[in-house]
Amino acid sequence: MIKIEFKDFGERKNWISGKLEDSSSSKKISIISPYYDKEIATVPDSNSNDLDIAVQAAESIFPDWKRTNIRDRAEIMFRFKTLLESNIDELAHLISLDNGKTIEDAKASINRGKEVVEFATSLPNILKGDSSQVADGITCTMTHEPLGVVAGITPFNFPAMVPLWMIPLAITSGNCFILKPSEKTPLSTLKIAEYLKEAGLPDGVFQILNGSQEAVEAICDHPDIKAVAFVGSSKVAKIVYTRTTAQGKRALCLGGAKNHMIVVPDADLDSTAKGLLASSMGSAGQRCMAASVAVGVANVDPIINQLIEEANKFVLGLDMGTIISKSAFDRIKGYIDEAENMGAKVLVDGRNPVPPAGYENGYWLGPTILDGVDPNWPCAKEEIFGPVLSIIRTDTIDEAMKIENNNIYGNAAAVFTTSGEVAKTISETASSGMVGVNIGVPVPREPYSFGGWNESKYGHGDITGKSGVEFWTDLKKVTARWPESDEPWKKYF
Ligand code: NAD
Repeated sequence: MIKIEFKDFGERKNWISGKLEDSSSSKKISIISPYYDKEIATVPDSNSNDLDIAVQAAESIFPDWKRTNIRDRAEIMFRFKTLLESNIDELAHLISLDNGKTIEDAKASINRGKEVVEFATSLPNILKGDSSQVADGITCTMTHEPLGVVAGITPFNFPAMVPLWMIPLAITSGNCFILKPSEKTPLSTLKIAEYLKEAGLPDGVFQILNGSQEAVEAICDHPDIKAVAFVGSSKVAKIVYTRTTAQGKRALCLGGAKNHMIVVPDADLDSTAKGLLASSMGSAGQRCMAASVAVGVANVDPIINQLIEEANKFVLGLDMGTIISKSAFDRIKGYIDEAENMGAKVLVDGRNPVPPAGYENGYWLGPTILDGVDPNWPCAKEEIFGPVLSIIRTDTIDEAMKIENNNIYGNAAAVFTTSGEVAKTISETASSGMVGVNIGVPVPREPYSFGGWNESKYGHGDITGKSGVEFWTDLKKVTARWPESDEPWKKYF
């Protein structure tokens, strides 16, 4: 039984200097619950004036925050982690209501985000710097310094987890952080702001600017924002990267994906079918780590048959939530219709599912599996971002890897096999930043960092782990020599 209760939150605001603040913009964005096709809140479509106010508030607290002992900053993360744990039901409900995830998926995403909070509690060890004598009488000391006021822009599909990739590392390393969450899913981030305040974070260190394109452009252009992290589609990642770096600022922009799973006949039947299904249909296929192409090498029919059996058991609302919007529904359905017209065999058809009782107006799409797909068709090349798995058949692993390597993205790839040699070859040749061996969603766990390659990322480094900390800090090297002196205390030597 799903239980995502409808609630109208009315007018939500920005979060500036530790409290909810009105925007100077008269434009409002309507937040629609994909479970109900009904408005659940509005947020302001903020402008550059609103950003100026957030930046000024952040700048005024930055000197104090930077001076705060890093152990005290990490202590706030300990308390924040506890608050995420004790409030997980409340936060998961908000995520489900505006994003369409199942409650279970929403909780799993909070727990994944919490891993970065846990990692941030270790920053007193990681940012301890370095010091050594580099020449006679000369010492070099290296420290990680915060940049100042920094910002993050996040997508709809993980409303809490993706902001949690950025917030803990940016603020624990001493920066003041401004978040522009997705205008489709802002509810949970306002709760995160409340938990951070309750954990003891000084007002102004974390702020939320709701809005859309205008707010993002203002962030890219603002002269006092020192670095911008972005997660979203590749099209916008490239725009944000180009615009931010043109101002001489640091940017790391994670984009879209088209992940391939290579399946060979020796793969374990049961766990491979389950792995393929979980990867392609989990979060209704709306995740950058979803595999949306399975490349079957030689005869993998027994695995595909098992996959079909498992997919037909899927219960909407329990195993899979909704699509984010009506327009996303139309886009995904368009890819399926087009593939069918081009000659794909629709092994499992999710276009007309039976919605769960009480949620008939939701944007539901069931698992869809297409077979006999040509590598050049749109469904095989473009990011569909929905619960659709395209199966391409090849005779050899070389052919399979050519298909994987030729895709423009490079977030993730996976191989299902019981052969160590096959696993090693595919891991080595995949053109992706994250590779799974018998794991369909190969998200590295902290402290291993998250980030793809190719057009799945603009900028250098990864968003979490040590790489994330490096993004939010600059190195300072102090080289010191103290002159010999004849001070009075010398006689005691
Ligand atoms: P999106 O690119 O439409 O939006 C992301 C952010 O950019 C939002 O905050 C939005 O307000 C802003 N934005 C949208 N259009 C803009 C424009 N023209 N100019 C400036 N800002 C703009 O992405 P989405 O639909 O919210 O999220 C889905 C996408 O995110 C998918 O492509 C998915 O693969 C990707 N994603 C990638 C990762 C990763 O780690 N690589 C993780 C999660 C999601």
